[in-house]
Amino acid sequence: MVEIDDASGLKGWADELISPASVEDFARILKEAAASQTKVTISGGGTGVTGGRCAEGGLLLSTSKLTQFNLDGMIGAGVPLTDLHARTRAAGLLYPPDPTEWTASLGGTIATNASGSRSFRFGSTRRWLEALTVAFIDGTVRTFHQGELYPHPYTPVTPPKTTKNTAGYYLPPGVSWVDLIAGSEGTLVVVLEAKLKLIPLPKEVVAGVVFFTKAEEALNTVERWRSIPALNMLEYIDANSLELLQLRYPEIPAGSRAALLIERDGSDVDPFLEADFMDESWFAASTADRDRFRKFRHTLPELVNERVRLNGFKKMGTDFAVPVAEFPRYWAQCVSTLEELFPSKYTAYGHIGDAHVHVNILPETEDDERRGQQWLRDEARRVLAHGGTLSAEHGLGRRKKWMLPLQYSDLTPFLQVKSQFDPEGRLNHGVLF
Ligand SMILES: Cc1cc2nc3c(=O)[nH]c(=O)nc-3n(C[C@H](O)[C@H](O)[C@H](O)COP(=O)(O)OP(=O)(O)OC[C@H]3O[C@@H](n4cnc5c(N)ncnc54)[C@H](O)[C@@H]3O)c2cc1C
Repeated sequence: MVEIDDASGLKGWADELISPASVEDFARILKEAAASQTKVTISGGGTGVTGGRCAEGGLLLSTSKLTQFNLDGMIGAGVPLTDLHARTRAAGLLYPPDPTEWTASLGGTIATNASGSRSFRFGSTRRWLEALTVAFIDGTVRTFHQGELYPHPYTPVTPPKTTKNTAGYYLPPGVSWVDLIAGSEGTLVVVLEAKLKLIPLPKEVVAGVVFFTKAEEALNTVERWRSIPALNMLEYIDANSLELLQLRYPEIPAGSRAALLIERDGSDVDPFLEADFMDESWFAASTADRDRFRKFRHTLPELVNERVRLNGFKKMGTDFAVPVAEFPRYWAQCVSTLEELFPSKYTAYGHIGDAHVHVNILPETEDDERRGQQWLRDEARRVLAHGGTLSAEHGLGRRKKWMLPLQYSDLTPFLQVKSQFDPEGRLNHGVLF
C-alpha cells in the first residue's frame, strides 16, 4: 500500500504506484487495469489544493517520468513548470499561464485548467493548448488538435459570467475535445502530452509591489488600473497577509495595510503614478527583480499552508470569483463578515484583476475550524447570489466536490459526459462526483 497526499493536506492511499515512462506504457497499464476493473487515479506534481490525486485505493499512475520535451511539438505531461518556463525563456519564448507553484506538472495544470497571476491578461491554461495526446480509461491513445469537435451528444451548460471558471466540465455548444478535456480534473482521460501555444518573450517588462496605507485606497486603485493597456498582472495582498509575509520580508514598509502586485509589458510606469501609494513601494525592470517579486508572492500561500498545517488543520481556502462588475459590492460584504467572525485569523490575497481573491481561514482551535466550515458554506451561497463561481482555478477535486451541486442544480449534463468517457467510473473515482 502507498500513501499519497497533496498541498490540501488530504491523505489518500493506493494499492500500487506506477510511474510509466512512455505513452505506450501508459496504454498497456490502462488496458491491464481495464481487464481487472481496477480503479485508476492520476498523480501529477501533487501541488493540487483539493485532494484530486489522493486516491481511495486502486492504482495510482504518476506522470513524473513523462518528461519528453519538444518545444515545437509535444511536451510530456510530467514536465514541471519550472523546467517549462526555463526552457521556453531560454528560447526567447513565453508560455503565458503562470500558476504560482512551479513544481506543478504540465499535465496537472491542464487537468485543472490552472491560471494564476498572468491570467488577468492571458486567460487560463485552456487558451494555450494546440493539441493533446491522451489515454482513455480502456487504454486507447489519441491525439486531438484544437478545434476538433467533441462528436457525442451532450447538453450545453452556461458558465457563470466570471473571467475564469473551473467548476464542472466546460460544455458550451460545439465544444472541442481539447477544451473539454482541459479542466476535467483527470476524470475523463489521462493527459500524456501537449503542444502549447507560445508567444515571443516581451523585450521589456516593468513590475511592482505597490504598498498602500489603506485597503480602500488599494481597492479603488484596482478599479482604475484594470484598464491599463498591456497589464499582465493585478494581484492583491491584504493587511493580514502582509503581517505574515513580514516574518520573511522585514523590509515591507511599516504602516502598509494592503499591496498590489503589477506587471506590464514595456518600460513605462507613468500609467501607475497617479495612485496614492506609499513612496517606499518597490518597482523594478530587471528579470532578477521580477523573479524576486514573484518569489515574494509565492511565499504567501506557502506561509499560509504552513501555518494551517502547523496548527494541525487542513487548508481551508476559497477559490471563489465573481463577475468583475460585482466585485466591489461583493468584497465589501465578504470582508465585513470575515472581520466580524475571524478578526486577524484569515488572509485574503490573489487575482483581484479577475475579481478572484483567495480567502484562507487560519484556524487555531477546533471551534475556529467548525465556524470556518460554516462560513465557507454561507459564503459559497453569497458568491452564487452574485453570479460567481465556486472554483475559478483550483478545481473541486475531492475536498470541494460538495460545491458542484450548489453551483449547478442539475448535474445530469456532467454525469452524461463522464459516462461517455468512463462508463464504470474508474478514472479518478471520487473526484468531482
Ligand atoms: C503554493 C501554491 C500556489 C498555487 N497557486 C496556484 C495558482 O496561482 N493558480 C492555479 O491555478 N493553481 C495554483 N495552485 C494549485 C496547483 O498548483 C494547481 O492546481 C496545479 O495545476 C496542480 O498541478 P499538479 O501537477 O501538482 O497536479 P496534482 O496535484 O498532482 O493533481 C491535480 C489534479 O489533476 C489530475 N491530474 C494530474 N495530472 C494529470 C494528467 N496528466 N492527466 C489527467 N489528470 C491529471 C489529478 O488526478 C488531480 O485530480 C497552487 C498550489 C500551491 C501549493
